[in-house]
Formats: sequence, C-alpha cells, structure tokens
Amino acid sequence: MNKRQQKKYIRRIKKFLSVSLRIACVSIVIWQFADAMKNDSLEDASVNAGNKIPVSTPHENYDTINVVNKESEESIGVEQTIYNQNKSTLVLVNWNHPFNNEDVQLVPICKGRLEVASAMYDDLKRMLKAASNEGFNYWIASGYRNWEKQQQLVNEDVGKYKRSGMTEGEALSKTMQETAMPGFSEHETGLALDILCAENNKMDITQEKYAGNAWLQQHCSEYGFILRYPRGKEDITHISYEPWHFRYVGKDAAAYITQNNITLEEFYERINTDTR
Ligand SMILES: [Zn+2]
Repeated sequence: MNKRQQKKYIRRIKKFLSVSLRIACVSIVIWQFADAMKNDSLEDASVNAGNKIPVSTPHENYDTINVVNKESEESIGVEQTIYNQNKSTLVLVNWNHPFNNEDVQLVPICKGRLEVASAMYDDLKRMLKAASNEGFNYWIASGYRNWEKQQQLVNEDVGKYKRSGMTEGEALSKTMQETAMPGFSEHETGLALDILCAENNKMDITQEKYAGNAWLQQHCSEYGFILRYPRGKEDITHISYEPWHFRYVGKDAAAYITQNNITLEEFYERINTDTR
C-alpha cells in the first residue's frame, strides 16, 4: 500500500466514524424525546381523571338516551299510553265517580230521536253496518241522557216501586240497585248506548239469547265499544249484568280491555292518574 492509498483509507475510516457518531447522537436524542412524551401523556391522563369531567363519545351518549327511553316506556306501560291518548273517551263514571263535564259534544242519531257523543259516531255507524250485513238489526233505546232526564228515570222507578207497596226508602234503595243517580250515569257522557235486538224490545237479560246480541258482544271491541257491565264483574262495577249496555272507549282501549277480560274500573286500577 502506498502513501496515497493509506491517506485514502484513513479518510474513509474518519468519515465512517463521523457518520456513526452522528447516527448514535440522533438515536439518543430521539429515544430521550420519546421517553419524555410518554411521561407527559401519563401526566395528562392523571390530571384529566382528577379535574376534568369525562367526555362521553357520541356512541356512549346514544346508548344512554336509548336506555332512558326504554325505561320510561316500560314504566309508563301500554295501558297508561292508551289512557294518555284517549282520556276523553275513557272517562270513568260510576257509583263513586260522578260525571261533571257539561261540555259534551253531541250528534243526533236515529233520525234525531237520540243523541250520542260525536266521538263515537263514525265507529257506531260502521258497527251497525257490519251487523246489518250479517243480518242483525237493532233498536237503540237510549244514548245521551242529561242530568234532568236521569233524575226523571229515578223518579219514575221510585214511583213504580212505591205503588207496588214499598216505603219511600225501600223504593229508593231498590231503584239505586238498577238505575244510577243523576250525575252518576255514564249515559250523561254521551258515550253509552242501550242496544236492543230488533226482535226483542225488552231491556233485560233475555237480550243475550238473541244472535244479534251475541254478535255485538263478540265484535263491538273492533269498533271501539265494550260491554260495560259483564256477568261476573258485578262486585267491581256495582251494576248487574247488562247485555244491552255498550260503552264507547275507542279502539285501542276496547281491544285492551276485551283481551284482558277486565272492566273499565279494573283498567283504571292499572294506571296512575288523578283525573278520574
Ligand atoms: Zn244503559
């Protein structure tokens, strides 16, 4: 190796050492910077945990809303939802819930002989048409009755029983078993109907022997009506079985009440309301 070649090798070795040294220095700097970043991140995390309100991701918020909605729906219940949507047609009038709304929207039926709540009119027409298609026809004996008319019915019954030999008290007691006192009849709501089969004009238990009454009892809920005073529920309604007395409550409520085999009183036991 001559002198020129020796100088060349020395230059190469110096260059190699210089490059190596630089690489080593840069590596150390990067390693230390990375380590510093790691420590900073941990510090931030601990600060967040201590002092800041954790921020939910949008996905977490969505889940929370869903859970709340599910819980509130379950706590409301289907009967409460039905009630909330049909308060006016579900009004409860019975022996201990007087009716005190004078503002009843009425429409004439039976060529003006009777009036009923306008809320039931379309469904009543559809029900009677469907029954007619099956060959059943009826005489609607009673719809809306105002306070005075109800009082008149009570007076007539008391008079009838007195004439048969009862005292005033006995006659009134007997009447109260069969006829609601004024203010306590749901006929005053315009939502009740006494429907007699065309072949039988007696407003008594014999109605149920006719196919037309059986059809009504079976199908009335499809049109928003319920048999208001069913057999076997006398202790709850305080009214004897009346196969002729139908009450409009709206289709959802009628379906629920019929499917659950309950009365309007029992429906109210299942909901929370101060507006009975
Ligand atoms: Zn009636």
